[in-house]
Amino acid sequence: MQLERLHVGNEVNLNYQEGDMIIGLLQGIKPDEELIPIYNPVLGISYKIKGIDLMLEQLEELENRGILERVGIKSFPICPFCNTSLFKPNIVCPSCKSPSLIKSEFLVHYECNYIGEISEFQKETNIFVCPKCNRQLKRVGIDYGRPGKLYKCKKCNEINQYPLIELECTNNHIFKIDEAEMRQYPIYKVSIQRKIPFITEIYEELKTALKYFSENLTIKYLESIKIDENQIYNIPISITENNKKIKIFIDFILDEKDIDKKIINIFKTILKFDVIFILVLRSDLVDTEIFNPKKFTVLYIKKIEKNEIIARLLGAIFNKII
Ligand SMILES: [Zn+2]
Ligand SMILES: [Zn+2]
Ligand SMILES: [Zn+2]
Repeated sequence: MQLERLHVGNEVNLNYQEGDMIIGLLQGIKPDEELIPIYNPVLGISYKIKGIDLMLEQLEELENRGILERVGIKSFPICPFCNTSLFKPNIVCPSCKSPSLIKSEFLVHYECNYIGEISEFQKETNIFVCPKCNRQLKRVGIDYGRPGKLYKCKKCNEINQYPLIELECTNNHIFKIDEAEMRQYPIYKVSIQRKIPFITEIYEELKTALKYFSENLTIKYLESIKIDENQIYNIPISITENNKKIKIFIDFILDEKDIDKKIINIFKTILKFDVIFILVLRSDLVDTEIFNPKKFTVLYIKKIEKNEIIARLLGAIFNKII
């Protein structure tokens, strides 16, 4: 697996396979579905999308790309010393801090003040005799009390209504529950802008349409190509005709962001690879018509309308591979 961070899109570095995978996962979620952070006993705080655990850093990258937006926060306690959210409760004796506690039903004999587990008093069913003074306990509330379940320390014999609850993190820091710090995690939703998902929608529909047309076509989403020493270009949609070995790359310029850079990348690609390039371009973004070599087709569109873009793309694809 490729682990180096590659340059994708305009401003953010995202590992290509990782980004591709997450965007793929996002296709399966409902438009209003919230991505809520959850406690994971192995990873700490994570997000589960379609059964896959994702970390905050991965979703933050998609947030930077405008694919996800924050719609709320959820807080989790973290260790005040090392910030981990992975810790367990230790229930210990408040006096000696030993964890040798038993929790049991207790009785207290008022006359001699002896307190002990119910089993120490019980001679037969419903006959209770004090093990200290040997008197029978008859009336609850008058002879004896039933304080209920209590904690008894097997080490120092102290009996307490409440144990001491400490938290211990995976780095062995021990702290009280009110000493824990809180860390906020965003709740996400797929952004309404859906810039990249719009292109994935086009990809999905093209894939379905092309399947009917020919079995010799392979269509890929976000194919990574190296256009020079240190630059990777992620082609949103690529189509390969397996018999004639024709390769078509499709990209989109639908807003004004980094137009020049995108066009340079496209020309570098055309010069370096034996491919047909189809560019979907919003016509109001360019003043002059782009120089149009043989292997480069520009589909000028007036507005971003999915069905129109798909129809024009299918026309251009068929035109090239027949
Ligand atoms: Zn810690
Ligand atoms: Zn103790
Ligand atoms: Zn007694």
